[in-house]
Amino acid sequence: MIATAARSPLPPLAGRVAIVTGSTSGIGLGIARALAEAGADIVINGLGDADAIAAVRSELAAYGGTIAWNGANLLDPQGAVALVTETIGVFGRVDILVNNAGIQHVSPIETFSAERWDAIIALNLSAAFHTIRTAFAAMKEQGFGRIINVASAHALVASPFKSAYVAAKHGVLGLTKTVALEGAEQGVTCNAICPGYVWTPLVENQIADTARARGIDREAVIRDVLLAAQPNKRFATVEEIGALALFLCGPGGASITGAALPVDGGWTAH
Ligand code: NAD
Repeated sequence: MIATAARSPLPPLAGRVAIVTGSTSGIGLGIARALAEAGADIVINGLGDADAIAAVRSELAAYGGTIAWNGANLLDPQGAVALVTETIGVFGRVDILVNNAGIQHVSPIETFSAERWDAIIALNLSAAFHTIRTAFAAMKEQGFGRIINVASAHALVASPFKSAYVAAKHGVLGLTKTVALEGAEQGVTCNAICPGYVWTPLVENQIADTARARGIDREAVIRDVLLAAQPNKRFATVEEIGALALFLCGPGGASITGAALPVDGGWTAH
């Protein structure tokens, strides 16, 4: 006779509470969708009009978990701190923290606006420091935490005209490795997902800037700049990023920490 193990009726992330920053759009929404489908309760965050945010909440709530929205502006350190403290206040815990919110600006360095530099460093790098710093003690105390920083292939290699973004993303990788070492004995992992080009509003918005900076048209930007970097010649999808984030949050991710995980069609293999 063959013995069969009883299947757990619970989805894999049932009972887990996740914060996903910048999850009203693009990659963050893809990650929030994957975690919600796996049963997590999610605090979504990001900008957008009320109707669009309500639509995201009801789409994710259909998976059965509790979906809250926190509109913290993460350019402000106090917003980043409040996002975490308010989540712990409402849900009593935070198990998964995905630092995803980010912006881009493309310009030669000699005309790169100092304000854009400050904003990119504040959102793409410092906000992750503030959320991790605020969540870390609770994660260590409960003996479980999954921190995922959505970095970029630009955490590993540079491109011209993206000085602030490349600097911020390289910084995110340093933060990731340091936090991984500090949480390793308490079951708190910290990893960086490093996407190549993923078709989202952030990429759409930089096409015009890149065309201007390089003096070429839109089609040439897509063919000769964006996909030229990606050997598989296609954009990665938000579903692919979501699937990796879900893996890192599950049992298979327990020993993966301090890693930079490219999802870039081979870009950084060059
Ligand atoms: P997106 O523009 O589609 O989404 C960005 C999200 O961040 C939105 O939800 C937006 O509301 C939110 N946001 C913006 N400013 C904010 C603020 N001040 N406070 C709180 N939230 C704010 O962008 P995306 O392409 O999905 O990018 C998400 C992350 O992935 C970014 O960190 C980006 O650097 C990274 N990334 C993107 C690509 C790509 O090709 N799209 C590649 C590598 C890395």
